[in-house]
Amino acid sequence: MAEYDASMRARTCTSLLPAALALFAALLPACSGKAADAERPNVVVIVLDTVRPDYLSAYGFDKPTSPYLEEFAKEGTRFERAWSSSSWTLPAHASLFSGTGPVYHRATQATEHVAQDVPLLAERLRDAGYQTLGLSANMWVSRTTGLDRGFEEFHDEWSFRQRLRARASEHPFIHALRGWFERVREPKKPFFAFFNLTAAHMPYLSHWEEAQPFFENKEAWQAAITELFPDNGTGLLIRQFGTGKKLDERELGNLRALYEGTLRRVDAITAALMSVVDQHADPKNTLVFVLSDHGENLGEHEQISHMFNLYESTMRIALLARGPGFGAGVVEEHQAQITDIYPTVLRAAGLEPEPICTGLDLRGDLPERRTLTGWLERPTISMGIFPQSVQQSGVLARYDHTLGAAIGPEFKQLLAGDGGSELFDIARDPGETAPLSELPPEPMERLRRVLEAQRALEARRRSADWKGNALQDPHSRKGLQDLGYTGEDK
Ligand SMILES: [Zn+2]
Repeated sequence: MAEYDASMRARTCTSLLPAALALFAALLPACSGKAADAERPNVVVIVLDTVRPDYLSAYGFDKPTSPYLEEFAKEGTRFERAWSSSSWTLPAHASLFSGTGPVYHRATQATEHVAQDVPLLAERLRDAGYQTLGLSANMWVSRTTGLDRGFEEFHDEWSFRQRLRARASEHPFIHALRGWFERVREPKKPFFAFFNLTAAHMPYLSHWEEAQPFFENKEAWQAAITELFPDNGTGLLIRQFGTGKKLDERELGNLRALYEGTLRRVDAITAALMSVVDQHADPKNTLVFVLSDHGENLGEHEQISHMFNLYESTMRIALLARGPGFGAGVVEEHQAQITDIYPTVLRAAGLEPEPICTGLDLRGDLPERRTLTGWLERPTISMGIFPQSVQQSGVLARYDHTLGAAIGPEFKQLLAGDGGSELFDIARDPGETAPLSELPPEPMERLRRVLEAQRALEARRRSADWKGNALQDPHSRKGLQDLGYTGEDK
């Protein structure tokens, strides 16, 4: 892929700055109020792909799915209410690396690539003198999608077959990280290390020792794998979405138990990675974020996997932060989003986030009320896994459209490309089991305004006279503000 052109970013930022400063400087108190630390911290970001926070014991789940993360949370801050920007890997990671949402970074099912003119976290840090390392087990975080940009050393070749082999021995990232510290690391420079761990991604395979707490015996565990995952999970998806024979409660029980085993596995890999990090980097000067990129459906709304919706089961993420600026044992109840990592890290490194950054510095006081956005482009890639006979039967038609989400502290609205809309009180009904027919006027108006702005910006980007940048496009500036690009509601 084409390497990102640093001069392009310089030009873009220069041309944007006068307008941007006028437009945003006064509106970004939490993004602009931090002094740079005297010593720039190391930064470690560990993404637990497909991990639901409500299934983690570190978040109060009643089974022992994450003993290491329970301890990790005591050393840092646990963000109780955090959301992704979409329901799948590519747009979520692009938001993690850019501090903005899918309608801006354009890493979607249509493009399969992050927009070239959007600066990425590793790139910003590398340009500022950081050593950068990226290890990804997910094909959507790769050279192909452009998300390797800025990583001096990047490995994304961990195929499914390699994952299976890795079950039998130490996870390859542990060895790779140890080797990087011993052979590449220059101690005088700060470093940024990123990891994507896919152990909890379908198919839900773990060691028996990891699955043991969730099954009566080993035979039951093996039978569940044989029944549900004779392949990589495609058969299960085709059955659930493409036929009339959805998984029953017994099968869903086994599916959840297998998933719980994979959470225990990803917890153990995280513990091993952090053991290497803590051997080589001073915890007092190392920012560590452990987060998920999106969740997973385990039968909610009659869905499995994370392909076709923006419900809380896929949008809510785990987010734990440790290191300078984060209190030990703190539970933060205010809303946070995956886009917040970017400005937090840049600020900690003494750098400025670009005006397109929608995130807030998580080390500061978060606002009482934000309206977060989520976006899922028409799921053309997901549709492609189904046989032609299923695609042509029409059973998938109800999923074949774009989805937008506006998420306030209490209420949430989903708006589909076919005009369908759903309202939920996510504060009292986080499982979204009881759609509301109406909301109080004020939150309804706010959610409507944000969703309209999101759709207008998306449509604008497709128009013939699009200027190539939302901040340079006068029609889009207002939309950006309405989208919550100020970070908090006015
Ligand atoms: Zn993912």
